[in-house]
Amino acid sequence: MKTLLSLYLFFAVILAQFFTAYFFSKGRTTYRKAFSVLVLCISFYLFGYLMIVNSSNLQEMIFWNQIQYLGLPFISVLWLLVALLYTKTIYSLKIRMGVLLFFIPVVTFFMRLTNSWHHLFYTKWELRELFGYSTLYMERGFWYYVNISYILLCLLLTVIVYCIGYFKNKVGYTRSHFLVFFFASLLPLISILLLIFAYAGKGIDYSALIIPVSLLIISFGILKYDFLEIRTLARETIFENNLAGMVVLGPGKRVIDYNKAAEKFFEAINISLNNYPIEHLLHGEPKLLEIFESKDNCELSLVIDGEERFFEIDVVMLGDNNDGNTRILKSIRDVTEERKIQQKLKFLATTDYLSGVYNRAEFMNLAKREFSRAKRNNDELSLLIMDLDDFKKINDTFGHAAGDEMIREMGSIIKSSFRKSDIAGRIGGEEFAVVLKNASLEEAKKVAEQFRETVNSRKVIYGKQEISVTVSIGVAAIRGNTDDIKSIEDIFKKADDALYGAKAKGRNCVATLESENERLS
Ligand code: GH3
Ligand code: MG
Ligand code: MG
Repeated sequence: MKTLLSLYLFFAVILAQFFTAYFFSKGRTTYRKAFSVLVLCISFYLFGYLMIVNSSNLQEMIFWNQIQYLGLPFISVLWLLVALLYTKTIYSLKIRMGVLLFFIPVVTFFMRLTNSWHHLFYTKWELRELFGYSTLYMERGFWYYVNISYILLCLLLTVIVYCIGYFKNKVGYTRSHFLVFFFASLLPLISILLLIFAYAGKGIDYSALIIPVSLLIISFGILKYDFLEIRTLARETIFENNLAGMVVLGPGKRVIDYNKAAEKFFEAINISLNNYPIEHLLHGEPKLLEIFESKDNCELSLVIDGEERFFEIDVVMLGDNNDGNTRILKSIRDVTEERKIQQKLKFLATTDYLSGVYNRAEFMNLAKREFSRAKRNNDELSLLIMDLDDFKKINDTFGHAAGDEMIREMGSIIKSSFRKSDIAGRIGGEEFAVVLKNASLEEAKKVAEQFRETVNSRKVIYGKQEISVTVSIGVAAIRGNTDDIKSIEDIFKKADDALYGAKAKGRNCVATLESENERLS
């Protein structure tokens, strides 16, 4: 009988130790941490009892009984705490609540420790015979009854909390969890009732016999429904190690879970994640708070370590929207590298590699858009077409590479000569065009003249040679939607014809079709 009981307790202690370590290592959420402490207390309690069973004298037994009290006073209150956290009745243990819950257990611990001075806990110890073996018999004092009443209260509340959780929750998976925890909590309650009402003075500790069964029921529940289930484990691992930051918001937009990447993301902006509502965590970051409160996918850019980074924040609703228990998964994806590649590709696709201004395709797109906008808004708009003079000669005299250098130089002169809002492109070999927004023909002619002058006076050093070039410019303009230029092709033709006139006039000059007509008539 004694060997059987010892073996039973021994395996229960090993199981409790295993679960303590297991839950501790997996203890990211508060309820898992609380559960690991609970199982640790149980293991102290059972170990003490195992040693009592195997002690032969009173002194040893009293010592091991004290060891039991390292865990015993805290078991029921931790059991309740786990229930409150697991059912999300509370989200974290606040200091005031902690003091309230743990006051009696802590006092009990010290009462038992100092019992030999006041005998308020046990009034009498003695060895008694049970099934031919000696057991520890204790006569109960005043504080013992305070303690046992508190234990009873905690276990009763635990059972009630799981009951409410079971009936409130509509998700089958979570309901089965609650049922397992409900039965596991019912057993210690029965054992305490037995201890109070069926107490025969024989020194049998019913709870020590029953708690391992509870532990087994819980481990069954865990094995069946929780971490050890490979599917859950895989999902947890994917969640935890996902490159995207993930934050799960529960009722009241409270953070109930998050992964490593999310922790890192918030750390980078000096926010440490915990169980608080999101508005509490992000009160100093209104832009981010708005995004986290929104139910739509959003984009966000933040300066982190002096570098602008881009994030996509997506929303996934978890579970049923109508059960009043909405949970939201917010995933945060760093898309900075993608954005940089996109920007690079866009640059390569729209920019002329040699001059650095827009290439022909992009210039035509932008010019068309601007032309339609000006027509729609009845705005003025001018177009300059510029062709380098006698460029063949430059190529022939100084070589093709020198010609390239000249085109490169033209690009930089264009960039520094026109307004940011103007659109400039290389539309042919040594031919450029610029759209001047809100510029009349007269203004455009002035700008063109200045540009011609700048090019004329610029010397390009290539090797040991000094090369200069001139440019001829054709200018055309629309005066809103009142003139006869109806399409982009019309204005191009007009500017092109003007350019032809400028070449005919002897190059290195600016011409408009109007001035050409005057000159020819
Ligand atoms: P005009 O004053 O009448 O414009 O005389 P032009 O010699 O400039 O004649 P045109 O505009 O018809 O000739 C353009 C020349 O520019 C032809 C070609 O050899 C040269 N060219 C075109 N693209 C490039 C280029 O990318 N690099 C170099 N180096 N030369 C180019
Ligand atoms: Mg040309
Ligand atoms: Mg030319």
